[in-house]
Amino acid sequence: MRLILLGPPGAGKGTQAQRLVAKYGIVQLSTGDMLRASIGAGTPTGRQVADIMARGALVPDDVVVGIVAERIEQPDARKGFILDGFPRTVAQAVALDRMLAKHGLSLDAVIELRVDEAALLRRIESRIAEMKARGEPLRDDDNPETLHRRLTAFREQTAPLIAYYRLQGILRSVDGMASIPEVTAAIDKALPSEPPASRRDTAPKRAGMAASAGRQAAGVGKKSVKPAPTRRKMASRRKAPSGKRRRQGGRPAPLA
Ligand code: AMP
Repeated sequence: MRLILLGPPGAGKGTQAQRLVAKYGIVQLSTGDMLRASIGAGTPTGRQVADIMARGALVPDDVVVGIVAERIEQPDARKGFILDGFPRTVAQAVALDRMLAKHGLSLDAVIELRVDEAALLRRIESRIAEMKARGEPLRDDDNPETLHRRLTAFREQTAPLIAYYRLQGILRSVDGMASIPEVTAAIDKALPSEPPASRRDTAPKRAGMAASAGRQAAGVGKKSVKPAPTRRKMASRRKAPSGKRRRQGGRPAPLA
């Protein structure tokens, strides 16, 4: 099973991912966790992204795409994975489609955790205040100001993925404001059962077609696509090589 959990910061993606890990025995791949680990280890990537993350902005696409491409090739991801926090831009989604297609794989579902932003903000702000009161360590980006920026980044750069995956026919939306067990139950209900063998055989082909529909919806690669000439245009090119017709009044003569 290969899933994406899509939702703004604080929507409960991490919590639900852990429950899915326990239930399906697949791995949780959180780009946020991986990036924080690079910062902790002081790697060049960590040094490159530390400030960006502390500001609540998005890390460049090529950095996260590189991390995910490497991670999904590890043996523990073979059985399946839950992507938590990736993709966050249409460019990342297109890159993911390509890397999966390269391995003959496809996504089973994208779970959108739908939330009320104002209520979410109140929920996270009170969680931060409680953690502070208990003296628990906070993340660098766990403060109201950065949170606002992360929500804006979600609205502007990540929310377009909802249409992208809806067009691929794999988007499932659940109410992320319900209680944790209720959200878990809704996700279970939304997940597809194992496809029959005949559908499994054609999965990579269907995934390729769906991915191309998603790319078209997002306007990716629009400029490079040159429409094929129509039969009428081709016939008029054959019949009027000197472009005479245009000079004689602009309307092509009727085809013979
Ligand atoms: P998260 O733990 O998923 O909330 O991510 C924390 C921060 O890591 C985000 O605010 C971004 O700065 C960065 N980040 C995580 N995943 C991505 C991604 N897919 N694309 C760009 N930046 C990311």
